[in-house]
Amino acid sequence: MSVLEIRDLHVTVETEAGTTPILNGITLTMRTGETHAIMGPNGSGKSTLAYTIAGHPKYTVTSGSITFDGQDVLEMTVDERARAGLFLAMQYPVEIPGVTVTNFLRTAKTALDGEAPSIRSWTKDVKAAMANLRMDPKFAQRNVNEGFSGGEKKRHEILQLEVLKPKFAVLDETDSGLDVDALKIVSEGVNRAKEATGLGVLLITHYTRILRYIRPDFVHVVVAGKIVEEGGPELADRLEEEGYDRFLDPSAPIE
Ligand code: ADP
Ligand code: MG
Ligand code: MG
Repeated sequence: MSVLEIRDLHVTVETEAGTTPILNGITLTMRTGETHAIMGPNGSGKSTLAYTIAGHPKYTVTSGSITFDGQDVLEMTVDERARAGLFLAMQYPVEIPGVTVTNFLRTAKTALDGEAPSIRSWTKDVKAAMANLRMDPKFAQRNVNEGFSGGEKKRHEILQLEVLKPKFAVLDETDSGLDVDALKIVSEGVNRAKEATGLGVLLITHYTRILRYIRPDFVHVVVAGKIVEEGGPELADRLEEEGYDRFLDPSAPIE
């Protein structure tokens, strides 16, 4: 079992207005085999949390810590984070001209393992994962993210998850822009990875829809850069009915 631990995390971003605090003390403990959903209204800092775990240079950690099995994640380069077993889809460049999906995956796998995978088993693995995700085999020869539709980007993300076999995945708005069929296929991919390898998942989403297909063990509601409520899957069901209003209206009673 691996543990990703976030302790009292404070993060700022530089804007024209100066240094703006975005995360104001986030504490979360996540183990492999568990699925945690981060939910919250737009602009509450969900993506900032994902980018901070990924090591995006725009975000500055002013205090607090992130550790993975006791190792200081904030001291690691983006590559070191990946080699430690963290999968952060957004760490990869938006487009990689001239690099095909198949070469990209093989290079990433080689970098992770420190040696190239055997061609036969690798080709078989990638083909099987693509078939599972109902991806056209021709997709493997396309350049990474070049002209990908929203749905293709998400499937490519889950394809990476299935073949790179990380310990822990941070998925930010994986549901956005997917129709129900694509959402089911993508969710099945995540569930397969959970079953196959005991993948830990941090699933970031504004909407509850994806949580019908990927059931979270824990739900954390983030508002204004803080966790304001935590619970089990029933909290997601409640948010589906009630929305976030009760967290946003300062005069609303909080039980
Ligand atoms: P969410 O993912 O919950 O919608 P974000 O983390 O994207 O929220 O944004 C939280 C707040 O931080 C917003 O007010 C947003 O404008 C601001 N913010 C986030 N990233 C940046 C950035 N790179 N530059 C300027 N402001 C940012
Ligand atoms: Mg947003
Ligand atoms: Mg976001």
